[in-house]
Amino acid sequence: MSSAVRVRFCPSPTGDPHVGMLRTALFNWAYARHTGGTFVFRIEDTDAARDSEGSYEALLHSLRWLGLDWDEGPEVGGEYGPYRQSERGDIYQEVIAKLTGGGYTYRCFCTADELTERRELARKEGRESGYDGKCRDLTDVQIEQFQEQGRTSVTRFRMPDQDWVWEDLVRGEVSFGSAFVPDFVLVRANGDPLYTLVNPTDDALMGITHVLRGEDLLSSTPRQLALHQALIELGIGSGVMPKFAHLPYVMGEGNKKLSKRDPEASFSHYERLGFLPEGLVNYLALLGWSLGGDVEFFSLEQLAEAFDVSRVNPNPARFDIKKCTAINGDWIRALEPNDLAERIVPYLVTDGTLPAGPTQEQLTLLREAVPHISTRMEVLSQAPGMVGFLYAGEPGSKPFELDEADAQKLLNEAGLEVLAAARAALDGLSEWTTTSIEEALRQSLIEERGLKPRLAFGPVRVAITGRRVSPPLFESMELLGRERSLERLDSAAR
Ligand code: GLU
Repeated sequence: MSSAVRVRFCPSPTGDPHVGMLRTALFNWAYARHTGGTFVFRIEDTDAARDSEGSYEALLHSLRWLGLDWDEGPEVGGEYGPYRQSERGDIYQEVIAKLTGGGYTYRCFCTADELTERRELARKEGRESGYDGKCRDLTDVQIEQFQEQGRTSVTRFRMPDQDWVWEDLVRGEVSFGSAFVPDFVLVRANGDPLYTLVNPTDDALMGITHVLRGEDLLSSTPRQLALHQALIELGIGSGVMPKFAHLPYVMGEGNKKLSKRDPEASFSHYERLGFLPEGLVNYLALLGWSLGGDVEFFSLEQLAEAFDVSRVNPNPARFDIKKCTAINGDWIRALEPNDLAERIVPYLVTDGTLPAGPTQEQLTLLREAVPHISTRMEVLSQAPGMVGFLYAGEPGSKPFELDEADAQKLLNEAGLEVLAAARAALDGLSEWTTTSIEEALRQSLIEERGLKPRLAFGPVRVAITGRRVSPPLFESMELLGRERSLERLDSAAR
C-alpha cells in the first residue's frame, strides 16, 4: 500500500448527527482533499440496541448536504468494504482468533460485582483502579472450574508493560504511563466485539494513515496503539501505525462541553432554520482552525486548499451561535440572487406561502424580491415572514392577515387617516414604480400633512405587508402591484 493519506470518518449511527461530529468529518475531508488522499466513511454500527437506520440515513444526508463527498463508504463502495461494521462480523471473528492464537488475549471470568468490589478497594488504598489482571494467567484447571461454576468470560487484551507516547499532530507529545492503561475488554461474553477491537482493526484493515477525531477519545489512544502494534506483528492489515490528531472540544453555552441533548448541537436544527451548507461548513471549520490572518469567510474549496492538521488549535473551541448565524448571513448575501431565490422556495412551500408547484410568475416575483430581503436575512426560514405578503390571498397560499398587535398599534384613528390620504395620493398615479409611489406618498403625507416618516409610512406598511417590519415599503408596493396595493389600503381602512 502506498503512503498516500487515508483518513476516515466513522460515527456510530445513534441519534441526530451533531455539530462536533460534523466538524470531525469536515477536517478529515479537508485533510484528504488537501493532500490528494482518500476520505473513507465507515459506519460503526456494532451496537444494535442503540443504532438506528434513521440515524444512518441522517448521517449520509448531513455529509451530502454539507458537500463532503466520500471516496469509499456506504453507497459508494470501495476496495476495503463493507463499510458498515454490522456487515463485518466474520472479519472480526477471524481477527479475534488470530489475536488469541498469538497470545495477545485472555479469557476473563471476573463478574461485574467482583470487578466493582476490587475497584473500590483499590481506590480506598490509593492504587490505580483499572482492571488488575487477575485472569491474566489462569491455568486450564482454573478455567475449567470457572466454567463449571457457570461463569461466562469476556476476551481481554493483554497490554504490554510499557509507557505509551505518541506525537499527536495537534497536541504534540502525549504520554500515558503503563499503570494507567490496564488490560481491556475486546469481546463481550456473548461474542460481540466491542469498539475497542473493531475501530483499530478496521483502521488497520482499511489502511488508515491518519486518525483525526475528537479529544474525548484521547484516553483510548494508548489501547489502540497497543492493538495496532499487535496487528502489525501478526501481519494483519496495512502494517502502518496511524498518526493521531485529537481535535479540540467544542464548548457550548457557559463553557460547558456542547452536549448531544442541546438542540443547537444537532444538524437538523440548522437545516430546519435554513442555514446554507456554505455557511454552516464555513463556521464549523472555524471550530479549531482558521484560514490565517483575520479571514473568517471562506469556501469549502478554499478550506481544502489551505487545510493543514498541524495548524489546528488544541484549545477548546466555543460554538458561538451568533457568529455562526452572522457568517450564514454573509453567505446569503454572497449568493447570486437567482440562486438564493431557488434555495428559498422550499422554505416558502413548507410554510404554506407558496403551493408545492409554484407558477413561473410566482418565481419571477420572488427573484425580484430577493435583492430587497437578502440584506435583512440571516437564515432562509426568515424568508416566508418577509415575502409572504406578496403571495397571500393567492390560490394555494395563505390568506392575507394583518398582524394583530401591529394593526392595533398603528391602525388607530390617526393611522386610518393616513391610509385614506395615501389612497387618494396613489389613486391617480400614471405609473406604478418605486419612485413614483415614494414621491406621491412623501408629497401627500410628509410635505402636505407635515407627518414624521414613521407616522406616515408605518400605517401604510402594516396595511400593505401586514406587519411593522418588512422589506422596504415602496419597493414592496411596486412588487405587489397597483391593484393589490390599493385593495389592501382599502381593506385595512375598513
Ligand atoms: N465510532 C466512534 C465514535 O463515534 C469513532 C471514534 C473514532 O473516531 O475513533 O465515537
